[in-house]
Amino acid sequence: KGEFTALQLKSAVKVVVVVRPLLGFEKAKGASECVEVPSTTVVQLPPRRGTSSDPFRFDFDRVYKMNNPGRQMFAEVVQPLLCHFIQGFNTTVFAYGQTGSGKTFAMGTMGRQLSTSGESDGIISRSMRFVFDRMKDIRQQYDVSLKISFVEIHQDDVQDLLGDGENYAPIHVRENPERGTYLENASEILVHSMDETAHLLEAANLHRAVGAHNLNEHSSRSHAICTLQMEQRLRPGAASGPDAPRFLRSKLHLVDLAGSERAKETGTTGQQFAEGVNINKGLLALGNVIGALTEGAGRKHIPYRDSKLTRILQDSLGGNSETLMVACVSPAASNFEPTLSTLRYAARAR
Ligand code: ADP
Ligand code: MG
Repeated sequence: KGEFTALQLKSAVKVVVVVRPLLGFEKAKGASECVEVPSTTVVQLPPRRGTSSDPFRFDFDRVYKMNNPGRQMFAEVVQPLLCHFIQGFNTTVFAYGQTGSGKTFAMGTMGRQLSTSGESDGIISRSMRFVFDRMKDIRQQYDVSLKISFVEIHQDDVQDLLGDGENYAPIHVRENPERGTYLENASEILVHSMDETAHLLEAANLHRAVGAHNLNEHSSRSHAICTLQMEQRLRPGAASGPDAPRFLRSKLHLVDLAGSERAKETGTTGQQFAEGVNINKGLLALGNVIGALTEGAGRKHIPYRDSKLTRILQDSLGGNSETLMVACVSPAASNFEPTLSTLRYAARAR
């Protein structure tokens, strides 16, 4: 506690890079590393083999290259965002990168127990735990409701990961002035404790796994969006100042994006190719939206409507909301091109 301090960052979109360690199977193949981290905010790749250009150098808000960066990353860049969320603003965290780069490890979307805490915990369980830990204080003044939903977008279709399996009404992205953007027919479950939340998220993960023949392939093609909605109503007679807001409503989206590898690189055809094209549509639209937002006040048109992903996130990207992109890369020299492309996509967001 108190070891790491929250970074004060000015822009509405923050970008951090996580360079995962070489994995056992990569080491076994004698893989070499190509990603250098000369300072805590710089990533560098060597010139392409056989060329004599300058190294590729990128500046970010923070770069992590260590085993289990989770605790430090949470303290430095996620926790400040959660404070924003608790103050009533929409907030989005998403993990971007090629399949195998560490997105799911960073978000903690799948495959690990969420109900117990440990060093390798991801952003989702750390965030939920943080919010529940703050509840006791918040409830001194406010009545609070917290609702979880968890969906995935696969082939531009939205699927409910918290449904009971009987309710197959199609899910549509809707908007209204009170709620902003929301998903009609998606489950929204009231949660009261970390335990309850962890069990729901584990069930959602199971649900996701059951639908897929090949989990890795499935997750590389779909976006998983975990959303926490919070409403706070000032309690009658609460001992608060005259300026205390009476009602706050905010959303926290935690997104494990589809793999960033391009469809044409995967060499797939037919059905799979169409999926690849759709996935690219979401990632492409997201890149364009964030690019437009960071270009600043001059830009009027933000192309939210170009994909389901960006429509769902519409009221949580830009405006008063805060966004964190966690760009995940492999250190292996054999992944040079996808790593370069991820760093370029991420650099465009700043
Ligand atoms: P993605 O979701 O981007 O496809 P994963 O999160 O599944 O990638 O990560 C691929 C593999 O790398 C997994 O076996 C995961 O446990 C491992 N891994 C990823 N990030 C780290 C990390 N920071 N430290 C240790 N292992 C990691
Ligand atoms: Mg994954």
